[in-house]
This record gives sequence, C-alpha cells and structure tokens, in this order.
Amino acid sequence: MTLERTGGCLCGAVRFTARLKDTNFGACHCEMCRRWTGSALLGVTVPEGDVTWHGTDHIATRQTSDWAMRAWCRDCGAGLYFKVTQDSPWKGNVELPIGILDDASGLTMTNEIYIDHKPDSYAYAGEGRTLMTRQQCIDKFAVLASDGGQP
Ligand SMILES: [Zn+2]
Ligand SMILES: [Zn+2]
Repeated sequence: MTLERTGGCLCGAVRFTARLKDTNFGACHCEMCRRWTGSALLGVTVPEGDVTWHGTDHIATRQTSDWAMRAWCRDCGAGLYFKVTQDSPWKGNVELPIGILDDASGLTMTNEIYIDHKPDSYAYAGEGRTLMTRQQCIDKFAVLASDGGQP
C-alpha cells in the first residue's frame, strides 16, 4: 500500500501530494472541528514538510486559536488543513481531512478525540479505537490548556 496520496479541493484549484507516515487517522469531535467541517474532522496527521501544495495562491488561512490555524480554498471553500502553529512537539503537524484525498481507502481510524463533545445523534461503527475526552486531551497536550482547551 502506497503511503503517497494525492488530493485536492472541490474546485481543483488547490492540489497536493502527501506522504503519510502510516495508514492511521483520527476523528476530532470538538466544536471547532464540527463547525469547520460540518460534522467531525476525520484527519490524517502529516508533518508539514511531507505535503507538497499546488495552487497555494488559492489557499486562505485563519489562526483559529492561540496554537493552530485552519486553511481552505478561497474559491470553493473546501477545508484543506489544520496546522499546529505554537511551539510544541507537534508544531508544523498538519491534519489533512481524509475526505479531500483522491483515494482515502486503506486507512484505519485509530482514535477519536473530544469524544465527550460528540453529539449523541451519530457514532462511528466498530471498536478498539483510543477514545479521549476533552480533559484527557488537555492532560496529554498541555499546550492546549493555555487556550482553554479549544483547538
Ligand atoms: Zn477549490
Ligand atoms: Zn477538533
């Protein structure tokens, strides 16, 4: 299975090639990810340097908290990435929504975070994933605490 995946936005103005570290990805149910994606963020983590972007003049960004930014296509509005900007072991890590990969097959959801913020209206099938509450995320990623735990 190749770990190199291509993808792009809805209108095609922004394209990318990413080299995944592995086939794992996670879901984030926090309020900001819900509002940004319309549901939950299903994201695969890739170091910033392992993504090559094309059409960068079409990318708009917004610092959405003290420690992270989000990006989207300014032409079609498709969400492109979440990136940690604050000095920390995770700085520069990019979360790519797996929905913008051309082929998101063969990946495995291994964790769900902010699980206690997930509406009871839906749930992902299957088990064996690592589930973390907001508080458990804050405890693990101490940097979050500086911004009220809101990614
Ligand atoms: Zn677009
Ligand atoms: Zn989130």
